[in-house]
Amino acid sequence: LLDPSGAVRPTVFEELTGLAQVHDAINLGQGFPDTDGPEELRRIAADAVVRDLSDGGLNQYAPGAGLPSLRQAVADHQHRWYGQRLDPAHNVLVTTGATEGIAASLLAVVSAGDRVVTFSPYYDSYAAMLGLVGAEHASIPLRWPDFQPTPEDIAAAITPETRAVLLNTPHNPTGTVFSRETLQQIVDAAAAADAIIISDEVYEHLVFEAEHVPVASVPGAAERTLTLGSAGKSFSLTGWKVGWVTGPAELITGVRAVKQFMSYSSGGPFQAAIATGLGYDDDYFRAGATRLAAGRDILADALRGVGLAVNRPAAGYFLIADAAPLGVHDARELAYRMTSDLGVAAIPVSAFVDPQEVSEYRSQLRFAFCKRPDVLAAAAARLADLP
Ligand code: PMP
Ligand code: GLN
Repeated sequence: LLDPSGAVRPTVFEELTGLAQVHDAINLGQGFPDTDGPEELRRIAADAVVRDLSDGGLNQYAPGAGLPSLRQAVADHQHRWYGQRLDPAHNVLVTTGATEGIAASLLAVVSAGDRVVTFSPYYDSYAAMLGLVGAEHASIPLRWPDFQPTPEDIAAAITPETRAVLLNTPHNPTGTVFSRETLQQIVDAAAAADAIIISDEVYEHLVFEAEHVPVASVPGAAERTLTLGSAGKSFSLTGWKVGWVTGPAELITGVRAVKQFMSYSSGGPFQAAIATGLGYDDDYFRAGATRLAAGRDILADALRGVGLAVNRPAAGYFLIADAAPLGVHDARELAYRMTSDLGVAAIPVSAFVDPQEVSEYRSQLRFAFCKRPDVLAAAAARLADLP
C-alpha cells in the first residue's frame, strides 16, 4: 500500500529520531522543546483527568467542535492579538493538533486534480496530504539565504486554476516570516483566482526580530482564509496535540464535517488547560520567544565556528545550515553520518521539497534550536569534529 517513492512513507522525523535513539545522539532533528510547558496547565489537565464525570471530569468525548471554553479562548486570543472578531460557535474549530487541522482543511476544500500551491521547502505533512487527496501540487521556491518568495514566482504559481494556497508563516523549516507586502501579494493573487488560503501560523508566538502578520488580517483575506494554530508550539506542549482552525463560518462548517470522520473530537482535559493558557499575558509569550532566540544564537555561532554557512531565522524552532563551504554537498549523507559518528541529529532540507527541487537544497540541513542552552552547548562541542 505504501509507495516508497510516493508522498506517503515513513516520515523523516521517524527515521532520524529512531537513528538518534540508537546512537544516543542529541536530537536537533525533530522539533520539540526539551523543557515542558507551564506546570499550571499540566495541573489543570491532570485535575480534569482525575476528577469523575459527575465532578467536572473530562474523560468522555468532548464536543466535536471543541470545548466551549477553548473555542471562546481562541476567539478571545485572536481578538486580543490581531483584532479579529470571531464567533466561537461558528468561526472556531478545535483539532487534534494543527496536523489534523491541515488534513481536514485540505480534505474540505480540495478535490482530486485541483491545483494547490505551497511554498517550498514546506512542512512535510503538506505534500503527503496533497498526495493522499490526489491534488496537483505546485510550489513557490524559497531560496537561500533569506527564503522570501519573489513577486514573480508568486504571480507565476498562483494561476486562475488554483484552488488553494497553503502557506506557513512563521515558516518551518527556514524561520522566515512573510512580510505584510508579500502576504498582500499572495492574498491578491488568491482572490483573483478565487482560491482558498490555508494559513499555518503555528509559530505565531515564537517570533524574535520580525512582526507576525496573520494572513486573515490582510485586506481581502478574511473571507477566504482558514488559519491554523497549535498549543504544542505556543505552550511547549507538543505531545498534547491541541490545535485549532479559525475562519469564515461556511469554511469552518466544511472542515468540521471532515474532522468528524477523522477523530470525531479531541482530548478534553488538554483543551481545558489550553483554554487557560491562551489567556496568559503578553509577557508569557514574549519570554518563550526570548529563550528561543538565545538558543538560536548559541547554535548559529557554533555552526559558523566549524565552517557552515547559517541563515538568520526571525522566528520558530529551526535554522538552516549550508555545508557547501565545508566541501560537503550531500546533506542527507552528512545528517546520517553526524547522527551515527558525532552524536548530533539534524534533518536534510531535501526532505521538505519536491523530488525535482532537491538539487537546490542538497547541501542544506535543518537544525532545531528549541533545546536547553546546556544541550545546545553539548551539541556544539560534538560538532567541533565536523565534517
Ligand atoms: N505546521 C507546522 C509548520 C509545524 O512545524 C508543525 C509541528 N510539527 C505542525 C504544523 C503540526 O502541529 P501539531 O503538532 O499541533 O499537529
Ligand atoms: N514540527 C516538528 C518538526 O518539524 C515535528 C514534526 C513531527 O514530528 N511530525 O520537526
